Amino acid sequence: MVQTGPITENAVVIVFGASGDLAKKSTFPALYTLWEEGLLPEKTRIIGYARSKLSEEKLDEQLFWKIRDDAEQGHRKEDPEKMKTFEGLVKYVQGAYDKDEAFEGLEKEIQIIEKDVFSGQKSNRISYLALPPSSFAQVSAMIKKHNYNPNQINRLVIEKPFGKDTEDCKKMMDSIAKDWEEEEVYRIDHYLGEEMIREIYHLRFANSFVEPLLSNKHVEAVSVVMKETFGAEGRGGYFDEFGMIRDVGQNHLLQAIAIMMMDAPTSLADDSLRSNKVNLLQAIPPVDPANLVLGQYAGAESGPREDGTGKAYLEDETVPDGSKTATFAQWAMQVDNERWKGVPVLVKCGKALDKGLMEMTFHLRPPPSNIFDVPKHSNSLVIRMNPEPAVFFKANMLKPGCRGTETTEEEIKWTVPGRKVAGDKLAYEVVLANIFKGDQSLFVREDEVIAAWEIFTPLLQHIEAPDGPAPTLYPYGSAGPKEQYEMEENFGLMST
Ligand code: NDP
Repeated sequence: MVQTGPITENAVVIVFGASGDLAKKSTFPALYTLWEEGLLPEKTRIIGYARSKLSEEKLDEQLFWKIRDDAEQGHRKEDPEKMKTFEGLVKYVQGAYDKDEAFEGLEKEIQIIEKDVFSGQKSNRISYLALPPSSFAQVSAMIKKHNYNPNQINRLVIEKPFGKDTEDCKKMMDSIAKDWEEEEVYRIDHYLGEEMIREIYHLRFANSFVEPLLSNKHVEAVSVVMKETFGAEGRGGYFDEFGMIRDVGQNHLLQAIAIMMMDAPTSLADDSLRSNKVNLLQAIPPVDPANLVLGQYAGAESGPREDGTGKAYLEDETVPDGSKTATFAQWAMQVDNERWKGVPVLVKCGKALDKGLMEMTFHLRPPPSNIFDVPKHSNSLVIRMNPEPAVFFKANMLKPGCRGTETTEEEIKWTVPGRKVAGDKLAYEVVLANIFKGDQSLFVREDEVIAAWEIFTPLLQHIEAPDGPAPTLYPYGSAGPKEQYEMEENFGLMST
């Protein structure tokens, strides 16, 4: 029986890949915030582990730069004393990922902490793999062999992407499952920590006015849109390997859809929330390539901009020559269950577009009597994450004045001050806090990630076949390829 429940004391967090981008930008700053807010267990110590030999100056920059920068930018209070205390909790250990001696050396360091800081008591351990997915299998096996405390809590944290397709994902999951129980594995899709995504649970299940609308009885179509104004600048190597569907479609957007369309969990205390997400995903058949639009951004019509953006995807030095990777994708899905049968779900996402936007729209059927003859889809419920967190109804209202009974489309908007937009650093703090709490509801279960891949794998194989479709070019900063509108019309939707 593995140890579960919250970690309340004597915690060692080992950040593998501490020399990398994720550790620098997200993991260490989030750990600092949790510590500053008193949300870390008593006597927590942090070990950064990586192969790189880092000079004192480089190490300081790698581990603590972002925390200081956030203070300089006014995102947190500057407090040099606190910073110094936090630095005292962190140690860097240099070591390989494939050598037994390296992990034995790490174990010695942990035992020193147990002796000197935890008064000889054994530690609870969180191993956070801020590493490329190709090293997950090897490193998780090494940790189990050398750094596992059988009578204490042990947690393994990995980040999406979890493989590149169903088979690749199963291979990764199987190799981890040889050594780790599902209760010990925390798979991060940090979108699940976003405030507006977590807000959906409350909106749906802590109120009675949204839930009755959410079924094919009232909803005619669902659309999900994620638009980014920036391209793949500087991250072309990573992005080109994964593309738009793997980068956000198979994970972030599908999670948002599952949370909004799943059945109500029976309780927050059991795992029914994740089980219901899995049920929803398993009811979605693989995406039909007949309903697909792919695009890739060309240069901006007004030429490259002063800040270096505006160049074509293929002009990015980090992108392989002649790449066919899509930076824009639109597809349609169906949910084959009683609640949603017949309701198309149209998803589009893209980079280097005209505006930043992330929202889900539930297009409602016209009222049955329709005495005002209101147009199709003039009624909808919108959940918006970006550029402002909001929930609103698009409603047909009385046109003011003395014109009789004419209707006008209005937005009845619900915004709550202080809510964070998607992309805020809060998401990492929330997911990390839940790892300490032992609450897995904001993490992706193994069967969930496999169900998600099954929806997209045939489509990805179609796209990546030698005779697969080429993306349509669209100008940087535009609304994307015009084929998207044809597809929206085919499904009876208006454009976003
Ligand atoms: P990096 O490419 O920066 O790699 C992290 C560290 O891993 C490197 O500093 C290096 O450390 C080590 N490393 C690099 N290549 C290899 C390799 N081939 N084999 C073993 N170790 C290697 O990754 P990120 O920090 O960007 O990402 C870490 C994880 O988080 C990945 O799974 C990524 O997909 C995921 N992720 C990242 C996000 C981000 O914003 N960066 C966002 C969401 C998810 P050293 O050589 O010193 O040991």
